[in-house]
Amino acid sequence: MNLASATTRLSSPESYVFTRSLEWATKQTPKGVEYRGIPGSWIPLPKHKPVVALICCPACNGMNGISEQVHSIDRDGKVTPEFRCTGTVHGIRCGFARPIYLAKWGKRTLYAVAYERVIQGRASAAIEYMHADDQLDAQRQFAAGHPEPHHVAGIAPVVGYFVEDTKGSKLSV
Ligand SMILES: [Zn+2]
Repeated sequence: MNLASATTRLSSPESYVFTRSLEWATKQTPKGVEYRGIPGSWIPLPKHKPVVALICCPACNGMNGISEQVHSIDRDGKVTPEFRCTGTVHGIRCGFARPIYLAKWGKRTLYAVAYERVIQGRASAAIEYMHADDQLDAQRQFAAGHPEPHHVAGIAPVVGYFVEDTKGSKLSV
């Protein structure tokens, strides 16, 4: 018995833990962004509510959204009700169905990103909030959601904090 199967047996005979990917490759298509997931992993989707996460099926490599309207996710990342893959392989239903966990779901910090954006030629300061593993993760999430040119003045956890941008002005959070 290898370590992976031993761990699975200890937690629950049927459950599957998806690892958290920092990012997946994406491709811009006329219909929008297309993800190329890593099988057995998940990524957060902070800007696509009610879909809050995408998971990539370890059996068929199909993408499945985890929607707040259908699923609830507890602090440990356990998804309820049990997951059923909607993917198909050569026209046959994948059939991957079991309780799943999203690793690192509940242990994230709320970060604030202070940035400047240009709307109709005028620059304005703005702040966006997101849960992230660390500052680099927050930066990645922000960049993924903001393909347009922008200048990030600072990123930090949201507790008693302010940042100083390159011009010396302070942006309180
Ligand atoms: Zn599948």
